[in-house]
Amino acid sequence: MTIVPKSPGDVVGAFHFGRLVAGLPQTLSTWCFTTRDQGAAEAVAELLGGESIASPRGYFEVDTPCAALPVTLDSDAAVTVEMEHWKARAAARRCNGAFFQSEGQASEGEPCGCPQAIEDRRAMATRGTGASPVTTVRFTLADAPELGVFAFESRAWDMAEHAEDLVAQLVGSEGARKAELVLSESEFTSTDGLRVMYRRPLVQLAALSGKVASFPSRSATELSQAA
Ligand SMILES: [Zn+2]
Repeated sequence: MTIVPKSPGDVVGAFHFGRLVAGLPQTLSTWCFTTRDQGAAEAVAELLGGESIASPRGYFEVDTPCAALPVTLDSDAAVTVEMEHWKARAAARRCNGAFFQSEGQASEGEPCGCPQAIEDRRAMATRGTGASPVTTVRFTLADAPELGVFAFESRAWDMAEHAEDLVAQLVGSEGARKAELVLSESEFTSTDGLRVMYRRPLVQLAALSGKVASFPSRSATELSQAA
């Protein structure tokens, strides 16, 4: 099989850990890869394990056995948080937290009205008057950079709240950063005493002078206290 290198910024496909099964959301314990590019699906299956399966909607999907993906973050732009402004229950426009950036629309470049602090944005969204976050991590696979750039997208507030920390660390570092995209299993006890297991993604930067940075960095206990 010949692999055609992709141009930078051209996303080959996306990794995720959730999908709809008969209309119900299902959480996976290992990373799943989805793409429209059959060659990319086959290459990922060969590299990480799993099988490329064609979906009826024109996608190819690989259920990999990997809960951790060794990746490379190529720049501080590898992690971005955009906000989605909603209109009539549809995501109408995206902003960068300060200005609209929906290309070609009349509002492009206009102030969007999002508060600067992410906790204020969350409070606004909770009241039903604010935008919601889309955090995107773009990366190459550490063992096959020639396959091109892949993406992981999260709409979780927790991910967005910690994205700024990760960006700050990336800005301070030089060159490409080795990292791991990890699906970690966490547990917390709900207010009515039930033990709740859940999975969340972590971006763990490779040790830099002995320090490993986790993202999000809060523990499940802190999360359940904050909820
Ligand atoms: Zn905004």
